[in-house]
Amino acid sequence: MTDLSVRILETGTVTVDKTIQNRGLSKNKLAFVGLFRSKKERITIPVKCFLITHPSGKRILVDAGWDSRVRKHPISTISFPLYFTSKPTLPIGEAVDEQLISNGVQPKDLFAVIMSHMDIDHASGLRLVKDSPKIYLSPEENEAIHSCDPRYSKKTYKGLSLTSIAWNGTYGPFEKSWDVFGDGSVIVFLSSGHSKGSLSIKVEKDGRFILVVGDSGYNEESWEKGYLPGPVYSKEEIKKTLAWIQEQRQKKGCVACLCAHDPSEKTKPQLIVL
Ligand SMILES: [Zn+2]
Repeated sequence: MTDLSVRILETGTVTVDKTIQNRGLSKNKLAFVGLFRSKKERITIPVKCFLITHPSGKRILVDAGWDSRVRKHPISTISFPLYFTSKPTLPIGEAVDEQLISNGVQPKDLFAVIMSHMDIDHASGLRLVKDSPKIYLSPEENEAIHSCDPRYSKKTYKGLSLTSIAWNGTYGPFEKSWDVFGDGSVIVFLSSGHSKGSLSIKVEKDGRFILVVGDSGYNEESWEKGYLPGPVYSKEEIKKTLAWIQEQRQKKGCVACLCAHDPSEKTKPQLIVL
């Protein structure tokens, strides 16, 4: 038996328009795309993945960060429009497979990869963990990536087998969830709004829990002030998700609420044991 834990991994950074974190900063609702916007409006924020270890020793990787090919060929790897909006950097040693291996985990030994959603800064590194036995995403997101929405790149999952989660529980803001190990320790749930099928994960032991929420929030202000992100699939749904997360964060048992791009010291790479 090992401890239930979440390890925060930083897989490089992404440079984006500052309205990515808060669309209210500009009257232009597409400001986050970066068109006609000054370089001064750009910020560089971390890109995080999370490694959950279950007491059985099974490990789940949440998100895959950047593909290591962005180091030399960023535009051909992620396409020009996505490069323009989300400029990647990935120092040597920070790609997700490199970090798994330095933590003693081969991608083939993972229990699964679970994707919070399929935006390029989360999915471009999927190729690096293609040996994981399973790659899960929500059925809603799986549908969205096969539409013509330009925010998704089909290159990220070309040749990979993606598995839609079969929701069978009622946890979360939209009452769609999946208890991964059947013991309540890792609950995946729909938290849509940023994208059609964004999901989040609750990791819990004895009433103490960690929330891993992907891009359903960019830092504490998203939940405390209800700032909406730039890219939004449904304003109504993201508002509901942010309010729900804020309610959970205020509970006594909440140890941490972790999102993918929070630059705060509190959520720097570390191991959190429950
Ligand atoms: Zn993101």
